[in-house]
Amino acid sequence: MGERYENQEGDTYLEQSQSLTHDRFEGELYPRLPYGLEAFRNPVESDHKPCPHCGAVKGQLHEPLCDYEECPACGLQVMSCDCGIFTEDAVPA
Ligand SMILES: [Zn+2]
Ligand SMILES: [Zn+2]
Repeated sequence: MGERYENQEGDTYLEQSQSLTHDRFEGELYPRLPYGLEAFRNPVESDHKPCPHCGAVKGQLHEPLCDYEECPACGLQVMSCDCGIFTEDAVPA
């Protein structure tokens, strides 16, 4: 928990995640939901503080499979839904 990965340019994993705009699911691409648009939790929190898990601010994409990311295919929490989306399914459009 709380680990941060940096590439050679020093970008954090969260910054790199901003280019992973879609989730691949059953051969189709679904646009990932930025922090603040989740339907499964109270979105008001995003007005006041960053995502408690990955640190995304409102309007930023979560790190792939963040605890607070919404599954773009079914609308549930991506960690606990049955779609089977993995971090490697988060891809650039
Ligand atoms: Zn997050
Ligand atoms: Zn799902």
